[in-house]
Amino acid sequence: MLFGRAKRNPITIADKGVKTWKYATCGYCSTGCALEIGLDAAGRPVSTRGVADAPVNRGKACIKGLFEHEVFTSSGRGTRPLSRASRHAPFAPVSWDEALDTMAERIKAIQAAHGRDAFAVVSTGQLLTEEFYTLGKLVRGVIGTNAYDGNTTLCMASAVSGYKRSFGSDGPPGAYADFDHTDCLLAFGSNLPEQHPIIYWRLAEAREQRRFPVIVVDPRVTMFAQMADLHLPIRPGTDLALLNALAHVILDEGLEDRDYIDAHTRMDNDFHKVLDEHAPDKAARVCGIDADTIRHVARTYAKAGAAMTIWTMGINQSTHGSDGVAAINNLNLLTGNVGKPGGGPLSITGQCNAMGTREWSSCSGLPGYRQLEDAADRTEIARFWGVDADFFPQSRGPTQTDIFPAIETGAIRGLWLVATNPMTSMANTERVRRALSSLDFLVVQDAYADVETVDFAHLYLPAALWGEKTGVFTNTERRVNLVEKITEPPGEARPDHEIFSALAQRWEQGRKMRFPKETAEVFDEMRTLSRGRLLDISGMTHERLRAARGLQWPCPEGAERGAPRLYADGHFAHEDGKARLLALPFDDNNERPDADYPFWLNSGRLVEHFHTRTKTGKLGNLNKFSPQPFMEINPDAARALGIGNMDYVRLVSRRGEAVVMAQLTARVPQDMVFIPFHFHDCVNRLTLGLLDPHSRQPAFKQCAVRVERVDQAEAARMEANARAF
Ligand code: SF4
Repeated sequence: MLFGRAKRNPITIADKGVKTWKYATCGYCSTGCALEIGLDAAGRPVSTRGVADAPVNRGKACIKGLFEHEVFTSSGRGTRPLSRASRHAPFAPVSWDEALDTMAERIKAIQAAHGRDAFAVVSTGQLLTEEFYTLGKLVRGVIGTNAYDGNTTLCMASAVSGYKRSFGSDGPPGAYADFDHTDCLLAFGSNLPEQHPIIYWRLAEAREQRRFPVIVVDPRVTMFAQMADLHLPIRPGTDLALLNALAHVILDEGLEDRDYIDAHTRMDNDFHKVLDEHAPDKAARVCGIDADTIRHVARTYAKAGAAMTIWTMGINQSTHGSDGVAAINNLNLLTGNVGKPGGGPLSITGQCNAMGTREWSSCSGLPGYRQLEDAADRTEIARFWGVDADFFPQSRGPTQTDIFPAIETGAIRGLWLVATNPMTSMANTERVRRALSSLDFLVVQDAYADVETVDFAHLYLPAALWGEKTGVFTNTERRVNLVEKITEPPGEARPDHEIFSALAQRWEQGRKMRFPKETAEVFDEMRTLSRGRLLDISGMTHERLRAARGLQWPCPEGAERGAPRLYADGHFAHEDGKARLLALPFDDNNERPDADYPFWLNSGRLVEHFHTRTKTGKLGNLNKFSPQPFMEINPDAARALGIGNMDYVRLVSRRGEAVVMAQLTARVPQDMVFIPFHFHDCVNRLTLGLLDPHSRQPAFKQCAVRVERVDQAEAARMEANARAF
């Protein structure tokens, strides 16, 4: 195939022999790109392309998406269930029946001896939504443990919590289409070009049509910051002080939308009192952004016809994550931007289906944004599932970040990890290692048998990957889209949905309940349960989703299309219909650099890798660009320590040590180092992970380290051993 000018510099694209294309939503990030996977004459996946008429990506895909067909043949896949009596014994293959019988027996024994909540379940943001719903039915309706969460607590819990506190419900109010209408975009802690390249492309395309200011708040001069009109290099962990100062200026200068505030919000009594403590001159000393710049940004935002805020982990992964989100909501409520085209808050989610688990997995409540705390919700779901309503707990149980400390105390004795890898993803690796080692029973259900947590497991269940099963994902802008089965799972690996349903049959209660065989039937259950609710998907079917290349919720039955944004009528999900303007005092409670540990440790993503590299670390076309961890350090700081570019260094925190290669760059200030978070036995050996009090999300981005020179030959050997696959 030829591209470019026919006679000059034509580009030849290798013919992969594609005979058919199959439709799927990308299985990496939450952007939700619609892709087609090309199959050759033998039915092998050989190519990937973006879908031209898809509203999200309009034919584009980033480097991860473009090589997505390669995951099906990546190394390390599990093909048979494996079992062992103790974690020091060798694994032996077992049949699925033996594996699930053992699992059910061990769960029942642990619960009988130590109580129902002594067995915990931690899942992911990467299953199909129908699978999340089925897992929730199994955990809440059959196994009956309240120690149940998803790894989204490490990622989006603060956004969920902030939305609930401000608006009365989870659910990002905005859409990518808002880039086409906005007059000002403010971004907090989001390196969009690397994290979500296609969302960034949508933004860049909108700016080519129409100039509007982009303001990026980030302690590091990220790729996004380099492309912004204004970069605010904020002191780590102080976003809340800056946001309060912006609100202060808006009210002080009479720039607020008084009519909107009066009609649609309820203000905390001490709202003004807290803002009074955040006058720009005072806030500048906390957040490191000068007072004039704070005033300039506040005026620009408030005077824009429509203004929007996006953010990612820079806000969420903080001890003030939930408050930071609520403060972003405050900013948009004060300026009347929520529900307006081009306006409002839009959290940029991490995993491909983090939204699906928020909506339907029952981790933090019951399906369809129902709450365990609400008796009517408990009764409705109990009737629908055929469960005694008293079987449900009356409030949410421990989050993932509380489950691990409960393992340390012995309150939790058994754990089931589904498609998540806490040995790499959680803060303070050494503590996680000790917790996993102490379990009476650990089940790891994952597509890969070589994921780090399998070392600690008693039972391993091989799962199908994305593209080896059919179902839906929800993306960052509430768009539900289809993933079709492209190829068969390897060996005896099974779709997670089938594993959950088969396990449920090991309980009498599970046999009484309905666990449909096909995910399309599960989707029909969800449609029924969604009718009339904020996340109404009753107007969607798998076929309609395929034809429309995804639909946004709410999309009630009969609707021609989904709603692009929430709260357009100014009616919110709190009982009185009003949003809350929350008073949010700032308490600077992070670990901070000092004489012994003089650097801030910051972390973030690389465009080539996804999360803990379980998949992308195996794909040559991705791994070759970013094969090993590195540390960005400012050249002046490096010179003072006698460290040269590409030298190995040892990073030391109060939790542990890691050896990485130094990259000298002025992207980081002199008192900060930055490490990509994807690599095992690296950044999270150092992190502290203090928790946000509302969301229980850890602060991955704010702790203190020191940098030491090391013997270069020895470090190179250690590094090579650690990365060997
Ligand atoms: Fe996949 Fe995200 Fe890349 Fe789109 S931007 S192709 S969803 S990884």
